[in-house]
Amino acid sequence: MKLREVIQVLESLAPLGLAEEWDNVGLLVGNADASVRRIMTCLTVTDTTVKEASDRRVDLLIPHHPIPFKPLSRITSEQTTGRLLLKMVRNGIAIFSMHTAWDNAPDGINRQLARSLDLEDPTPLTLSSIAPLREANLGSGICGRLPTPMSVADIQHRLESVLSITAARHTHNSDRPITKLGIVCGSGGSLVGLAAQRGCDGFLTGEATYHQCLESEALGLAMLMIGHHASEFFAMQHLAELLTQQLPSVECFASTQEHSRF
Ligand SMILES: [Zn+2]
Repeated sequence: MKLREVIQVLESLAPLGLAEEWDNVGLLVGNADASVRRIMTCLTVTDTTVKEASDRRVDLLIPHHPIPFKPLSRITSEQTTGRLLLKMVRNGIAIFSMHTAWDNAPDGINRQLARSLDLEDPTPLTLSSIAPLREANLGSGICGRLPTPMSVADIQHRLESVLSITAARHTHNSDRPITKLGIVCGSGGSLVGLAAQRGCDGFLTGEATYHQCLESEALGLAMLMIGHHASEFFAMQHLAELLTQQLPSVECFASTQEHSRF
């Protein structure tokens, strides 16, 4: 199958217009006319995932986090990004990243987290600026009502039944029950103010800074941070399953070597 055809399927799962303005999504390395027999998904391109992709003779790697992310003025083995890119190119591995488009997609990460908590009437924290996406109720982050009020500990417990959480933290105001929850996977702490404006009294994300935690407390939101990896990796496993269904002639799998405690 041509990479170009695989990309059409990926863009049907996560329209790239859903990506944030600052993001770098799409085909980042490779030739769209090359053929693809094996696809691996992972969270981040590291020495571990590049080695696994090479060992498993992957033609296309779909990391959640884009590489390259920022413009590069040189690609040498002196820097981490250059070294990883050179290895991928040497092994004929293309890179396609959907990042925030997948975060915000109809079956993407934030909505999968919302579904696992049975969030009612989920709506984006901000609607997309692109009209057809806005009309489809798509945009950044998600918020909705919990079916019954839950404490931070209840939410963590529920998520632990579907995710591998090893490093959860929470703000100090986490005892009272939460009725309306905002969700932003990954590093979502900067959107806590937006969740407050939408009437949320709880906020779920992967990680947040000290000052974002203080801001959350000042705004009266209890924040649960389940770890960046835990908040997103499960969805790359789910993506591999979706691709297996939709691309029967291609072997699709998620990384089995990528682990993180933070
Ligand atoms: Zn992330």
